[in-house]
Amino acid sequence: VEASLAAIEAAAPLNAAVEITAEQAREAARRADARLAEGDAPDMCGIPIGVKDLFCTEGVRSQAASRILEGFRPPYESTVTAQLRDAGAAMTCKLNMDEFAMGSSNETSCYGPAVNPWRARGSDARLTPGGSSGGSAAAVAAGLCLGATGTDTGGSIRQPAAFAGIVGVKPTYGRCSRWGIMAFASSLDQAGPMTRTVRDAAIMLRAMSGHDPRDSTSADMPVPDFEAALTGDLRGKRIGVPREYRMEGMPPEIEALWARGAEMLRDAGAELVDISLPHTKYALPAYYVIAPAEASSNLARYDGVRYGRRAKLAPGDGVTEMYEKTRAEGFGPEVRRRVMIGAYVLSAGYYDAYYLRAQKVRTLIKRDFEQVFEQGVDAILTPTTPSPAFELGAMAEQDPVKMYLNDVFTVTVNLAGLPGVSVPAGLSAEGLPLGLQVIGRPWEEGPMMNVAYAIE
Ligand code: GLN
Repeated sequence: VEASLAAIEAAAPLNAAVEITAEQAREAARRADARLAEGDAPDMCGIPIGVKDLFCTEGVRSQAASRILEGFRPPYESTVTAQLRDAGAAMTCKLNMDEFAMGSSNETSCYGPAVNPWRARGSDARLTPGGSSGGSAAAVAAGLCLGATGTDTGGSIRQPAAFAGIVGVKPTYGRCSRWGIMAFASSLDQAGPMTRTVRDAAIMLRAMSGHDPRDSTSADMPVPDFEAALTGDLRGKRIGVPREYRMEGMPPEIEALWARGAEMLRDAGAELVDISLPHTKYALPAYYVIAPAEASSNLARYDGVRYGRRAKLAPGDGVTEMYEKTRAEGFGPEVRRRVMIGAYVLSAGYYDAYYLRAQKVRTLIKRDFEQVFEQGVDAILTPTTPSPAFELGAMAEQDPVKMYLNDVFTVTVNLAGLPGVSVPAGLSAEGLPLGLQVIGRPWEEGPMMNVAYAIE
């Protein structure tokens, strides 16, 4: 814990930690020491972790990197962080992210972006750690903590994990409780671990998982020992390689990485099979209708009354002016864009054409996966991202749709509710980390991580 706190201090230029919780961490460390002395050491005993700012942590500033939650200190602890604490973990910091988890570069944060500890060969340019869990990825990659929580609505655990050369797991929808995690798109959001190794992810995921009566979408499923599944033996396993993910204009180094990954799985005994997921190309447009629709509804609660900030009002201002002024100055441009898109696609007259249509597409995407799994495919191998980490500022000034294209390989997993993991699989020509994604069958995070383990 002391080493983590010192590392956080030394790594201030990365802007990964937005709040340092030294006192609580030391207290947790003392408790961990006591438990160790009693011979009762739980899985995460004394392990320093960072927590994404999207998780409510009791008495500790939790802002979702938004001005609208300025100074908000929740009077409660999210289920997942409470479970980690009970498993012995010591939270040393809250971590930077895109505002309300909307973004792929950490640049929509009210704190300014977190910075990727990696640099391209021969360049000093600051790179994005990805997003929205960019602070979590930067912190784990730079050794500020041994693990961090992330959340993934359309790729926000896996894409930053790929950009920072670490492991990130998005569990099956319902595996981890969403209680106390600020909602972005409730039918897609899942918490998950971000760590240096697949084994660490397996240990941390177990501590984060389980049924929670306070989240009606959390599943009453047994939580297996994910670590026990890590054998590296893939004999008899069938791994699907979806042809629709071989997108036009895909950089050759991503193609090569994918082929190398397939080779590693073959070496571990797996059979690689060509598969088809025909509705893949509709995933991104469906996601960017459904996610903003749910966001516009979830973010209605930031009204200047219940949480955080309220705008200064002029004499004569009524409740409408209060909402308008508070939300206009509290939300950043990307969040406002999502709220507007969401309100539009849900509005009378457009609902059938956009929202309902997107939901139907979602069902087709889910069926694509079900069919492949029914045919005996155990897991699916794809790239995590279409490129390595890009320069901060390079994308943000452009058309927002360009940024959305980053999620092309990751959103299908959320739409289908499946588990997915990104594992570091090699370096780009400029020496930057690249990730491969393994998609698992529902509730089979263990076998899925075992495939990642064979690549790691
Ligand atoms: N980049 C995607 C978005 O901006 C995904 C975000 C996420 O998974 N939280 O919506």
